[in-house]
Amino acid sequence: MMPSPEEIIELIEEDDMLGYCLECGFTQECVEPDARGYVCDNCGQPKVYGAEELLFMTEG
Ligand SMILES: [Zn+2]
Repeated sequence: MMPSPEEIIELIEEDDMLGYCLECGFTQECVEPDARGYVCDNCGQPKVYGAEELLFMTEG
C-alpha cells in the first residue's frame, strides 16, 4: 500500500531515518532517505523504501 503524499512529506520533514513498507504499511527506523527494497522488520518482505524514494515514486 502506498502512503499518501501527506504521509511521505511528514516522513521527510521528520528527517528521522524512517522508511515505509509498501507491503504492510510499517514505519521502519534506521532507513536512509534513498533506501530501496530494504527487508521489513514487520512482514519480512523487501518492500521498505526511504522517504525520498517514496516521494519520487508517487510523483511518477
Ligand atoms: Zn512490511
